[in-house]
Amino acid sequence: MTTQSSALHLEQFRASVRAFFKTNLPDQIRDKTAAGVELTGAEYREWMGILSRQGWVAVNWTSQHGGPGWSLWERAVYEEEYFRAKAPRIVEVGVKMVGPVILAYGSDAQRERFVPKILDSSELWCQGYSEPDAGSDLASLKTTAVADGDVYRVQGSKIWTSYAHFSDRMFTLVRTSDKGKKREGISVLLIDMKSPGIRIRPILRMDGRHEFNEVFLDDVEVPITDRIGKEGEGWTLANHLLGHERGNMSHFMMIEEMFDTLTKISTSESAGATTVAESLDFRRSLAKIKIEHMALRVTAEKIMQEVTADRTVGKLASVVKLGRNRSTQDVARLMFEAGGYSAMPYDPLAIRGEGPLPEPKYLFRMAPEYFDSRKSSIAGGSEEIQKDLIARRILGL
Ligand SMILES: Cc1cc2nc3c(=O)[nH]c(=O)nc-3n(C[C@H](O)[C@H](O)[C@H](O)COP(=O)(O)OP(=O)(O)OC[C@H]3O[C@@H](n4cnc5c(N)ncnc54)[C@H](O)[C@@H]3O)c2cc1C
Repeated sequence: MTTQSSALHLEQFRASVRAFFKTNLPDQIRDKTAAGVELTGAEYREWMGILSRQGWVAVNWTSQHGGPGWSLWERAVYEEEYFRAKAPRIVEVGVKMVGPVILAYGSDAQRERFVPKILDSSELWCQGYSEPDAGSDLASLKTTAVADGDVYRVQGSKIWTSYAHFSDRMFTLVRTSDKGKKREGISVLLIDMKSPGIRIRPILRMDGRHEFNEVFLDDVEVPITDRIGKEGEGWTLANHLLGHERGNMSHFMMIEEMFDTLTKISTSESAGATTVAESLDFRRSLAKIKIEHMALRVTAEKIMQEVTADRTVGKLASVVKLGRNRSTQDVARLMFEAGGYSAMPYDPLAIRGEGPLPEPKYLFRMAPEYFDSRKSSIAGGSEEIQKDLIARRILGL
């Protein structure tokens, strides 16, 4: 394709994506997302089902594996339109993390069994890595799986498990051996969340939303056929998944939507005698953040050009992750500042959809958004750990 015809193709593609969201995104889900109100598990399933029927839930997958097979540029356009339409982020663990690992390491039987249900969104996944004493030092995990005939008996607990309260399966790191190096005794089990012996306790976040949980596993029986990869190979699989998690580009597109919202706030809120948008301090901050964001996005796009569900981004994923953290946190802070006093109060009941939204409604999202943005310094591996990886694996220090 020439540059001109590919630009035309992308514009036509953009129009078709925009039209799809206009017609198919349910009003209630759009309004809740725009206001920053938490969705229920049923609403996530409803929306992901709509995307699945269109073939658009696994946008990073090649057509060979059941995805739309889009180029990076089509994906970027899709995700820009996605967030502009105020569509909610999906529960990405299945399509962006677990699915790619099953494609790369699963047996034929596992691929046939799990992949179609990820693609049609009938099974949602959560990620059981962290434990109370194993976060950055993940290899210290203590949840054990002991083979007993054709099952493993799993004993232990996980923490910070996002979406466990409505997930169907958990991609779980367990210790199958305590001999040799800590990393060598880890395996991965694909655990059915309805198994007897699983108990889930919610942890509410500082913005009031319920995303995290503790998951207790008390003598849970897991068929040995639900182990993915060989016994003791879990560390390699865990890192394959983390490459996809850290290299996830959709957050960059979400930031474009935040810039749109920021423009609206700054032109309607006042700063003394003028609007916020006319204040020199605000303009200077906005220009700095936008320029940095654009530079970070271009760098990330270069890195991500070759990445699909079956090819991970490898060691450069840490660079993508640090860049998008910085952009998200900068723009969330500026939105909060632009809203001024009116953005301050937030109501934990309203954010869970259990009470009315305080006025002004369009500013309600700003405080939770600011608090929420802080999490990215830790989620998927903390900033210090990413800097350490960059120093060792990329800079060779
Ligand atoms: C929004 C969010 C969602 C999450 N979802 C999930 C999930 O679905 N599943 C899951 O398993 N986990 C999840 N987590 C947990 C996440 O992976 C861990 O919080 C993270 O790995 C850090 O572990 P920790 O909390 O135990 O902190 P710690 O490892 O105790 O770290 C505490 C602080 O010490 C620093 N530190 C630790 N070790 C070093 C070192 N060697 N050098 C320099 N600094 C160091 C860290 O950078 C950090 O600042 C989620 C976390 C967040 C915030």
